[in-house]
Amino acid sequence: CQLEYQAADDLLSGRVVVVTGAGDGIGRAAALSYAAHGATVILLGRTISKLEAVYDEIEQSGGPQPAIYPLDLEGATWSDYETMADRLRETFGRLDGLLHNAGILGRITPVQGYNPQLWEQVMKINFQGPLMMTQALLGLMSASDDASIIFTSSSVGRKGRAFWGAYATSKFATEGLMQILADELENTTTIRVNTLNPGATRTAMRKAAFPAEDPNSLRTPDEIMPTYLYLMGPDSRGVTGQAFNAQPPKL
Ligand code: NDP
Repeated sequence: CQLEYQAADDLLSGRVVVVTGAGDGIGRAAALSYAAHGATVILLGRTISKLEAVYDEIEQSGGPQPAIYPLDLEGATWSDYETMADRLRETFGRLDGLLHNAGILGRITPVQGYNPQLWEQVMKINFQGPLMMTQALLGLMSASDDASIIFTSSSVGRKGRAFWGAYATSKFATEGLMQILADELENTTTIRVNTLNPGATRTAMRKAAFPAEDPNSLRTPDEIMPTYLYLMGPDSRGVTGQAFNAQPPKL
C-alpha cells in the first residue's frame, strides 16, 4: 500500500485516462484526482447526471476538459466496446490509462440460494464488461509509451469468504485476468496491468454491504487516492502483474 505516496502536481499531465463508474464513490474521487494531476479523463458510467456533475467539478477547478462516455456495462455488447475504441481513436489517437472501477455488490447471501440471474448480472458488470473493454482498448493502449491498466479488486477476491458469492467470484476472476494479461503483455509491450483493492471505503456500496457500520470509522475515497495515482502515473512504470492494496487491512 502506497498511502504515503506523494504525487507530483503534474503527474498525469498530457495523459488520456478512462475511469469507469466515474460518477460516484471511489471512481468519482479517482476521476477528480486524475484530472487535478493533469489527466484528460473520460468519465464512463451509466447515470449521466452524475457524470455531468463530475464533469462540471473538473471544469470549475480548471482541470483539462474531460469527456463523458455513457455506457451501462450490464447491457453493453462487443460492438459497443468496438465503437468505444473507434471513438477514442478518432478523438485522442491513444489511451494511456484505464481504471476499471465500476462494480455492483449483488447480494450477501449463501451460494445455495443465490439467484442465478443476479449472479450473471454481477459477473457481467464486474468481470465480463471490463474484460471486453480491455480487449477492445488494448490496441489503443499500445499507442501510448507508458500505459497502465488498473482492475479494482477486493479482499474477498483474494481469499474467499462465506456469503460473498458472485461478487467475490467476479473479483477472483479479475485477479486471474490481471495475471494472464500482465504475463502476455510483459515482453511485447510497455502496458502494465495490476489489481487494486481499495479496502473498506466510505461509499454507497460499503454502506449496502455493512449497514450497521459507522461510516465515520472508514477512510473516504479521497484518502485512498495515493495508490490510485501511483499506479496510474510514471512512478509505477515496469510494475506489472501485482495485487495492490490502497490502505492497510481494516482490523
Ligand atoms: P459505488 O457503488 O459507490 O460506485 C460504483 C460505481 O459504479 C457507480 O458510479 C456506479 O454507477 C457504477 N456502476 C455500477 N454498475 C454499473 C454499470 N452497469 N455500468 C456502468 N457503471 C456502473 O461503489 P464503490 O465506489 O464503493 O466501489 C468502486 C469499486 O471498488 C468497485 O469495483 C467495488 O467492488 C470496489 N470495492 C469497494 C470497496 C468499498 O469499501 N467501498 C471495498 C472493496 C472493493 P451509478 O452511480 O450510476 O450507480
